[in-house]
Amino acid sequence: MNQAVQKHSGNSANLDSMLPQWRQWDTDHVWHPFTPMTAYARESPPMIVSGEGFYLQDAAGKRYLDGISALWCNVHGYQVPQLDAAIVDQLGKIAHTTFLGGTSPAAIELAHELAQRTPGDLNHVFYSDAGATAVEAALKIAVQYHVQKKPRGEKRTTFIRLDGAYHGDTLGSVSIGRIDAFHQPFDDLLFKTITVPSPVLYRIPEGHNEQSWINHCYDSVKQVFAKHSDEVAAFVIEPLVQGAAGIQVHTPFYLEFIREITKEYGIPLIADEVAVGFGKTGTLFACEQEEVVPDIMCLAKGITGGYLPLAATVVTDEIYSAFLGESEEGRTFFHGHTYTGNALACAVSLASLKLIDENNVLDNVAAISSHLQERLDEISDFPEVGEIRQKGVMVGIELVADKENKTPYDPALRIGHQVTLAARKRGVIVRPLGDVIVLMPAIAMPVEQIDELCDAVFEAIEEVCA
Ligand SMILES: *Cc1c(COP(=O)(O)O)cnc(C)c1O
Repeated sequence: MNQAVQKHSGNSANLDSMLPQWRQWDTDHVWHPFTPMTAYARESPPMIVSGEGFYLQDAAGKRYLDGISALWCNVHGYQVPQLDAAIVDQLGKIAHTTFLGGTSPAAIELAHELAQRTPGDLNHVFYSDAGATAVEAALKIAVQYHVQKKPRGEKRTTFIRLDGAYHGDTLGSVSIGRIDAFHQPFDDLLFKTITVPSPVLYRIPEGHNEQSWINHCYDSVKQVFAKHSDEVAAFVIEPLVQGAAGIQVHTPFYLEFIREITKEYGIPLIADEVAVGFGKTGTLFACEQEEVVPDIMCLAKGITGGYLPLAATVVTDEIYSAFLGESEEGRTFFHGHTYTGNALACAVSLASLKLIDENNVLDNVAAISSHLQERLDEISDFPEVGEIRQKGVMVGIELVADKENKTPYDPALRIGHQVTLAARKRGVIVRPLGDVIVLMPAIAMPVEQIDELCDAVFEAIEEVCA
């Protein structure tokens, strides 16, 4: 047993006595993200006091397997000795100081590692603190790049996005996102974008078959470029998989096609690897699978192994060069955050990258991905399982009221949420996207725990949908 668990079990009387108080304060004072707070208050969600390996433990002493890697960011599990040590070691030097005009070894070394590992000449790292801020920086970099590029600058402010895109919750990121339920109240605040259809096959619009729909997706992009290419600042994409849209997996070679056409028209490609990055699709970065080098790559979630908030916007030599010059030339990127380049976060990020190598974690991704695929086959015939989508460790199980007609459940039933509660009873934490049950195990999770995850979730689906 590790120290933290020991400490808590030793103090369980104390925990027991505080629990009702904490519940009350949680209701009185805490506003949770993406959480319907009235329903939340009724449901006594797990109050996590510690974690070890791939398990979480709540204040009542119940253990849960984490099936969503702490919302898609945990890599090696909890209380990983090497990661804990990296933070303690850095803490013995300094936790944080400003990165505006200053620098520090941990942040420098991490930038060097990222430049080595990202494809092509993505060589220049701009740090921030979250996926949304990494994307926000990317958008502003793209616009300012066009103003300052050589031989002649120009004003370009239109972005192309995919249907169902999600890039975070700040207003710039919301502008290039397209999930109505999240975005509707802010419509009037958002800047102009052009939407192209997403190359996915489950619900093909009437009048199309699979092939004609894919042709339509490609043709739409060609038409948009033919008509609008001189106003477009960048094309923004979640490479291979659109996570928040419900783990929507693109048809193969779409990303490659987008890279070719953006190159042809001289338009920067922004790859938002916040969800897919750091191994989840099988390669360290999803872009590698179609040998694509974007002009700007956004990284966050898995970057610190899930330990601390950190993000990076990585750009090519060409993009970066537009920002070089003497200060009076006014080419500076006037953008940043107080905690940019946080030393603790950079130190743990370096340790996480090292551990990905040392433990051959990408080999583990291959092994658990194919095991997941075999296990998922078991439920593909369930009448309530409409579609199973998978890329690497990213899994979406879409539950439907009528399989034949792909009819969704009445949203008021909150079927996805009910499955989450049923899985929780069985000691597994998952979180759905609507009625899509998402499995997103940490990429270092051993195969035995993948089985435990599947067993609990499959039983939960049977219980709720039967
Ligand atoms: C989660 C996510 C974001 C936002 O990241 P935050 O750290 O939550 O701001 C952006 N893009 C994609 C693709 C994501 O999945």
